[in-house]
Amino acid sequence: MDEKLENHIEQYGFPIVPDEKSGALQWIDMRELRVKFIISVEKIKPFFEGLKEGKLLATKCKKCGRLFFPPQKDCPSCRTDEMDWVELSKEGQLETLTVLFVRPPSFANYDPYTVAIAKLDDGPRITAWLKGDPTKARPGMKVRVEVSKRKEGYYMYELVPVE
Ligand SMILES: [Zn+2]
Repeated sequence: MDEKLENHIEQYGFPIVPDEKSGALQWIDMRELRVKFIISVEKIKPFFEGLKEGKLLATKCKKCGRLFFPPQKDCPSCRTDEMDWVELSKEGQLETLTVLFVRPPSFANYDPYTVAIAKLDDGPRITAWLKGDPTKARPGMKVRVEVSKRKEGYYMYELVPVE
């Protein structure tokens, strides 16, 4: 354990440490959380099959025509599960980005990475990692979606600046 934190616990009776800059009190959690998710993807199975073929699939409500990406099995407006699968264009424009230096434990073995939001030409927004130098990225720049395998061995999509 951090010696400074140990001293604070002794002194205050809690793992509470003032922030170095602001002096505001902060609770330092002593537990390391290990969280494992299991999520049913049965109803959006075509999305994963499409990704393997390099396709970006969304669902489209048969009633109102709204596009959902990531795909949803139900339309919250129409309260229907009558959806079509449609392939999205993989071109869009960058809207915003952030570089993560302090990574969550599940990505701790990656170098700092960039998470960006782009608006696809078909309308939906996509959140994904952005490839390349984030200091050269600008809102409005053209990006395309590329499907590749992560180092864990599974398929994922990422945003790649065009040119
Ligand atoms: Zn709808």
